[in-house]
Amino acid sequence: MSLFVEVALPVPMRQTFSYKIPETLTTPPKKGARVKVPFGRQQLIGLVTGTTDTCHLAPNQIKPLIELIDEEPLLPDSLYKLTAWAARYYFCSLGQMMSQALPVALRKGAEVQADTSTFWRVTAAGSAASLDAIKRAPAQRKVLEQLQKAELSQEEMAALNFSKSAIKALQDRDWITKDERINKIDLSWRDNLVLGEDPLTLNPEQAIAVATLNQQSGYHCTLLEGITGSGKTEVYLSLLESVLKQGKQALILVPEIGLTPQTISRFKSRFNVTVAVIHSGLTDNQRLTAWRLAKTGEAAIIIGTRSALFTPMAFPGTIILDEEHDSSFKQQEGVGYHARDLAVMRGHLEKIPVLLGTATPSLESLQNALSGRYKHLELGQRAGNAEKVRQGIIDISNQPLKTGLSHALLNEMRIHLDAGNQVLLFLNRRGFAPALLCHDCGHLHECDRCDAFFTVHQSLGEIRCHHCGNQYAIPRQCHNCGSTMLMGQGVGTEQLATVLEKEFPKYPVVRIDRDTTSRKGSLENHLNAIHKGEYKILVGTQMLAKGHHFPDVTLVGLLDVDGALFSADFRAPERFGQLYTQVSGRAGRARKPGTVLMQTHQADNAVLRELMHKGYGEFARGQLNERKQALLPPAWNMLLLRAEANQAIDADNFLSSVAQLLPQDEECEVIGPMPAPMDKKAGKYRRHLIFQTKSRQALQQAFEFALPQIEALPLAKRCRWSIDRDPQDLL
Ligand code: ADP
Ligand code: ZN
Ligand code: ZN
Repeated sequence: MSLFVEVALPVPMRQTFSYKIPETLTTPPKKGARVKVPFGRQQLIGLVTGTTDTCHLAPNQIKPLIELIDEEPLLPDSLYKLTAWAARYYFCSLGQMMSQALPVALRKGAEVQADTSTFWRVTAAGSAASLDAIKRAPAQRKVLEQLQKAELSQEEMAALNFSKSAIKALQDRDWITKDERINKIDLSWRDNLVLGEDPLTLNPEQAIAVATLNQQSGYHCTLLEGITGSGKTEVYLSLLESVLKQGKQALILVPEIGLTPQTISRFKSRFNVTVAVIHSGLTDNQRLTAWRLAKTGEAAIIIGTRSALFTPMAFPGTIILDEEHDSSFKQQEGVGYHARDLAVMRGHLEKIPVLLGTATPSLESLQNALSGRYKHLELGQRAGNAEKVRQGIIDISNQPLKTGLSHALLNEMRIHLDAGNQVLLFLNRRGFAPALLCHDCGHLHECDRCDAFFTVHQSLGEIRCHHCGNQYAIPRQCHNCGSTMLMGQGVGTEQLATVLEKEFPKYPVVRIDRDTTSRKGSLENHLNAIHKGEYKILVGTQMLAKGHHFPDVTLVGLLDVDGALFSADFRAPERFGQLYTQVSGRAGRARKPGTVLMQTHQADNAVLRELMHKGYGEFARGQLNERKQALLPPAWNMLLLRAEANQAIDADNFLSSVAQLLPQDEECEVIGPMPAPMDKKAGKYRRHLIFQTKSRQALQQAFEFALPQIEALPLAKRCRWSIDRDPQDLL
């Protein structure tokens, strides 16, 4: 047996660590198994990356490992390769990337495969017992009623939140009992797939898409571009049917907000198979159970949000990403991986097809589809019998506004509300830095050195160009008309809801944003109440744009169009196009015709016009050309270095030193340091440095070369800094 083991640990240091293999260990540690090791004063759990007979550490420095946790590797080789690739691509440590890929319970050392499971059931006496006999003990009655219907696993019992004392009381009465059972793996779905309901008859477009997808074997990536309501989900279901019939599993990734009970039930009701659901609301144990079901192959379908990407499958068949453009697929904190890009890589490594579905493709995927790297399938017709929406622009230049609302919009709202319908008002302050706008003439203050708008930094009292660093004090008067009515900041959802309650006292208002939905289940409750018609006016952020079906909404109003269009973030028009298209998809989904109105100071804006008249598809193709001309992603590759410090000068100096370490020529560009659009947060000054290259390889090589030198900079210790490759958000 080898003498030493190399271990990847969940620490930022980009290296592995050596430990001695104790003589007492009888089996050699396998690559990919977990070990517990001493690290400084703590004990950490890491993954074995290899074993050796030599070690460069002095004998008294090298410590023995404490425990070998797994006899077998935790992940299949493909996922091990995926995390190694991702660690290199995102410039983080292998250990950090691997811990992203594991459920928390496993990171903490839980057993991979429990040998037995606990089940609760009624005894003969409990089965015969009458519920009326315990009328006065409602908590007990609830437990007994459930178990009389069917036995429950320990996890299912826990999820129902029964009272512990009620369970104990029933046990003491000998009405219920628990059994320990050896886990046997049920793979019967692989030989005998049973449908829970008949599939719909596909329309011709859907049928062509499904036939094309069914022909694929091995790795393929396909972009399914289908307008809202064109029946993409039905295509997924049809594809799943043939994948599952071959005895293979499917991994379905959905945006954070998209994983609603309705979504899950569409998959569950079509197939009589185990569906493992993985999302951030699960307890560590529930998550581990779902992970195990996927790994053993018992779960035919695995459906989850971003991090479910790393779930191992015993029989990998396909990966489907729904709403592939959604920004929640990119992790914002810690390691900034993109689940879409890693899903495509995983498809390569596991030699399975990957399907990206959306009504509004990201420019990244669109570019790949147009260049032929991905197969491109389109669905252009609405599957159901929904009517087309009416679209309109309200020019608010020089109009009196009531907390952001124009008279025209208020009047239109009244008409729809009085007709008994619901109205959705959409306001997105998140993610868009404000431009400086003149309320009288609509003039937007533009950089004199760039084709870009200034961003307002209220706290600095400055306007700044985020393309060249150009800066001025916030002007008092409009450069175009001299008016002093300059606006940099918009209205928030909370303020808007309050004003609407006063304006329309007869019609109840609900506000949906991060603040009102942070409690577990509160989004569901709000949505249910909306469906029941308890609310008439819906005010919300982008949360309301996704996938929900509101049959009684006939008017959608977009209030903050300007802020979205002229932000410093180069992705803002793309995001707005996606949002606009998705929000418009909320109107007129059912029998009732829908109207979409946008308030803007820029009624003639080319982006708006193109979006309205030509639709997202052509708009996005135009945007893609603009990005090519501006040398921006996805044409070029981008890396963003963020630094924050108590003293602005420290962050500036650090990033200036970094800039010196990076190549600058025709194919490599360094921009900054410059203040982040939100330049001060929680007392810290935030600065950005952007590194852009024409080729992906050049970025990889140049930054890999510079990174050890960056880490060695003395200033690196005076700031908090992070690396964001392919940043989705420049805030
Ligand atoms: P998307 O995901 O593209 O927005 P959905 O899959 O949710 O669209 O489909 C929209 C609606 O059309 C759903 O109510 C769905 O049941 C219905 N639908 C989809 N395909 C068909 C079909 N082939 N025949 C009849 N109805 C369909
Ligand atoms: Zn003006
Ligand atoms: Zn500029």
